[in-house]
Amino acid sequence: MKPVIALALHGGAGPIREPDTSIVETHLAGLLDEGQAALRGGSSALDVVEQLIAKMEAEGLYIAGRGSSPNRNGEFELDASIMDGARRLAGSVCALQGFVSPIAVAREVMEQTPHVMLAGSGAMSFAKAQGMQIITDLAQHFRPISPTGAGTDELSHGTVGCVALDGHGHLAAGTSTGGVLNKMPGRVGDSPLIGAGTWADKRVAVSCTGQGEYFIRAAVATDISARMAYGGSSVDAAAAGALADMQRQGGDGGLIAIDAQGRVTMPFISHGMRRAALHGDGRKEVGVFR
Ligand code: ASP
Repeated sequence: MKPVIALALHGGAGPIREPDTSIVETHLAGLLDEGQAALRGGSSALDVVEQLIAKMEAEGLYIAGRGSSPNRNGEFELDASIMDGARRLAGSVCALQGFVSPIAVAREVMEQTPHVMLAGSGAMSFAKAQGMQIITDLAQHFRPISPTGAGTDELSHGTVGCVALDGHGHLAAGTSTGGVLNKMPGRVGDSPLIGAGTWADKRVAVSCTGQGEYFIRAAVATDISARMAYGGSSVDAAAAGALADMQRQGGDGGLIAIDAQGRVTMPFISHGMRRAALHGDGRKEVGVFR
């Protein structure tokens, strides 16, 4: 019997303004096929998560990597995190400036340091020392997909994320973001916070998207695992419950999660969520709105 593999991606649950969602859907469907082929070929969930997120960062279609918007000082401060459920290791960067792939730097933090999180100038010195790819021309590199400044919806935000189950039964999760538009310099959201925006263990892998402050206060990602462990909930019920708890605090957004049997859930309580999934039974699903 073939081992079960599963995969899910999201491209953010912020206000979705694009009149034609087919570009994003086509992109996500292509990444899903790529991830499926890699997992079938024996790649680890962790490698697939990093690679697919790096591609979303490079695309400029999402508020992460190239598509990020600057903070109020005009600087691009990006956050990312990755977690390996099998080894229960995690790496994360906050307010990183000047590097092409924040998720790749987060992976290096996980693999090469005794720490979980590096922030600001320390993260940048580390990334440089590791030889991570530097952005040579900021103006050329960044193509903010949402306008900033007067009249901009203060709550606009976006993110990319990926969760995967590989043929060895290992789960991994990652999230990368430009954060919320018009954010204060130094503002850090849930995406790089292990347990809030990202989580993976032997039970479940989770990546969240939405107004980060609410996800932090509800510890959404780790709450899903706790509901499964202590309450015996299914991944569907656990994700819905954790999201509802966050919504009660006044937030909105969504998440993707996979359990160790390859069951995928992608609930959202926002206008839409750019998303794609390969379920453990082989079914594929791509969508933006309900
Ligand atoms: N959660 C991200 C943040 O608050 C934004 C988003 O997912 O839309 O930085």
